[in-house]
Amino acid sequence: MSSHKRKIFVISAPSGTGKTTIVNKLKEKIGKTIEVITTFTTRKPRPGEKSGYDYYFITTRKFKEMIKQGAFAEWAMVYGNYYGTPKKDINEAIKKGKDALLVIDTQGGMSIKKLFPDAVLIGILPPSIKEQERRIRKRDGLTEEEIKRRIEEAKKERKIIMSKYDYHLINKNLKNTIKKIERIIKREMNKNG
Ligand code: ADP
Ligand code: 5GP
Repeated sequence: MSSHKRKIFVISAPSGTGKTTIVNKLKEKIGKTIEVITTFTTRKPRPGEKSGYDYYFITTRKFKEMIKQGAFAEWAMVYGNYYGTPKKDINEAIKKGKDALLVIDTQGGMSIKKLFPDAVLIGILPPSIKEQERRIRKRDGLTEEEIKRRIEEAKKERKIIMSKYDYHLINKNLKNTIKKIERIIKREMNKNG
């Protein structure tokens, strides 16, 4: 195990960019050194999603209890549902000598940067709005209104990513994107060895 200072990485991307696909590949490739933190949400699971792997799916009542208990490092409302990053799991990853990777929205990214100024924020963007829409439609059984909302929201996320994030990249070719992220993570790990 290398002796570099443990780092927190954040990946944010507008809906449909490909972040779930990318992060699942990263889990396979570098999951031994970096702990991908499973976050909590009140949204309903999509077909194939497993509680404890994709998210911890919980009720709004339970989520609010956890807010009161101070269980979240950050939490936010995204597309009408609550999402939150558990403090405990970040601390445990770091105690185990691992880096932590959070896949959260840009509101969450900004909160994490305040809490952990050394956190590395990586923003991924789709090649175009048209391609984003195509990817969203390919994946989900969302209503037209939900699709519109995600595309609208993407404009705000793009602005934050371009102005506040440490790295931004476009997910055109999936393999290249994964390689680039691996490179960024390695470079950052080696910075304060
Ligand atoms: P997100 O989690 O960002 O909302 P997903 O990972 O669910 O996005 O990806 C949305 C869809 O786009 C999926 O069908 C996925 O296979 C596809 N996809 C991901 N990356 C690419 C890419 N580079 N080129 C084409 N399609 C992609
Ligand atoms: P989805 O429901 O499509 O999986 O995710 C919706 C958005 O919520 C994505 O941008 C995802 O990264 C974000 N998200 C997931 N978990 C968290 C979290 O714990 N905190 C915050 N702020 N955003 C999250």
